[in-house]
Amino acid sequence: MIIKIGKAVDNNFIVNDPHVSRHHAQLIHKEEGWILEDLNSTNGTFVNGVQIVKKYVTLTDTIKLGDNYVLDISEVLKFNNDYSEEFLALKKVYDNYIQEKVRIQSANQFKTRIFQSLPFALPGIIGIIIGFLGERNPLLLGVSLFIAICAPTIGIYLGAKQSAKIPLLLQDLVNQFKIDYVCPKCGTFLGEVPWESLRNRKQCPVSSCKAKWVSE
Ligand SMILES: [Zn+2]
Repeated sequence: MIIKIGKAVDNNFIVNDPHVSRHHAQLIHKEEGWILEDLNSTNGTFVNGVQIVKKYVTLTDTIKLGDNYVLDISEVLKFNNDYSEEFLALKKVYDNYIQEKVRIQSANQFKTRIFQSLPFALPGIIGIIIGFLGERNPLLLGVSLFIAICAPTIGIYLGAKQSAKIPLLLQDLVNQFKIDYVCPKCGTFLGEVPWESLRNRKQCPVSSCKAKWVSE
């Protein structure tokens, strides 16, 4: 993809500045990023104060066409409906979401198991105490028996209580995901669709939006 910049109306991005040439410069999209190329302009193209002919540029570079006009790349890209920079950042949002989801689910499984096995361990400990005392204490025996009978119920109760916590944690995660995983232009939630699948789609499915997610 090439975005032509200058004063003439046949440019992709038209600049109205007396020091900018009719066909001043162009932005060329490459796999590695954007190349800014001066098109033999009268007053030159500058990146961070240095005059250039052809140079890789990023959104953080200060670009001047001639000595006055400051060119904002993100503005140029948005003018061309190009949201590839912002879309690229969504990959991290999706990856983090999946990672966090797995983490919550596996941590919960572990806690549920601990809670469920803890009450079963207690009768065993009591049994050891009784063994140490070396006598048949009817009270200790009674307590041990009582716990042994209650253990499964307590275990199931604690396990269920722990399991009930996941929907809450997951709900928070999903709510945040719905705010973050949106089209950078129109803000529509993109669903739980893997980022790679969206990249293959290349643009926003909302017909009025037309944001390009991938530059070509
Ligand atoms: Zn959109």
